[in-house]
Amino acid sequence: VHTAPLLECRAVSARYGGITVCRDVSLSVARGEIVALLGPNGAGKTSLLGAVSGIVRGGGDMVLDGTEMGRLPADRRAHLGLRLVPEGRGLFPELSVRENLRLGSRLAPAARRQELIDRAIELFPILGDRLEQQAGNMSGGEQQMLAVGKAIAGAPSLLMLDEPTQGLAPSVFDVLRQALLALRDDGLGIVLVEQRHAFAQSVADRTAVLVSGTLVHQGEPGETIARDELMRIYTGAG
Ligand code: ATP
Repeated sequence: VHTAPLLECRAVSARYGGITVCRDVSLSVARGEIVALLGPNGAGKTSLLGAVSGIVRGGGDMVLDGTEMGRLPADRRAHLGLRLVPEGRGLFPELSVRENLRLGSRLAPAARRQELIDRAIELFPILGDRLEQQAGNMSGGEQQMLAVGKAIAGAPSLLMLDEPTQGLAPSVFDVLRQALLALRDDGLGIVLVEQRHAFAQSVADRTAVLVSGTLVHQGEPGETIARDELMRIYTGAG
């Protein structure tokens, strides 16, 4: 059966003042799908996530779960189920792991909050061992796990992650990978911005490549993209 995508973006732009850094981006994400958004430094990947989540000025049509949200403020988009885990992770460093998870869960219906916090701890057991620890005192990898845990505690339908492996030890990659795959199997749509292509390719169902603010390639579902091909697209050669 055909079902509408979870997120459907058409002709989306992102701009800072008069400077447009993304233009005419059309991208859709299905439930239970991980889309890796790749592209060189400065391509506009972070800005595109910002435009979709409402924290960077943008234009175009953005439909989430049937609701046009392109003109809604960021907090309304969050209530519709969109969650961004930003590069800086967006944690409250002074607060404990438990408090961060609780704050994240406030976007979820009250009756589901504990179940969702438990799910976060199931995916990242270390969080359960560290519930009383100050978030800011944890390792980078633990903080990244908490950032994802905090996001999913709020019952998102669409999770957008900006370079979650940045600065982390390879030992954390596998935990993160398994968590993303499990969340996908829970039915979430996931957009993953990654510089680490091997990691992106190991979880993605589909790849989109942004160069100079424009999508220059989109893979079909099930098709990711070989590194050589990616380099050719980046450089415009071939
Ligand atoms: P990176 O991987 O290096 O973070 P990116 O693909 O995420 O790159 P963006 O960070 O979205 O790219 O940047 C896209 C363009 O927007 C760049 O030219 C950048 O200089 C510009 N830009 C980003 N943030 C701002 C801002 N706050 N004000 C003005 N221009 C900005």
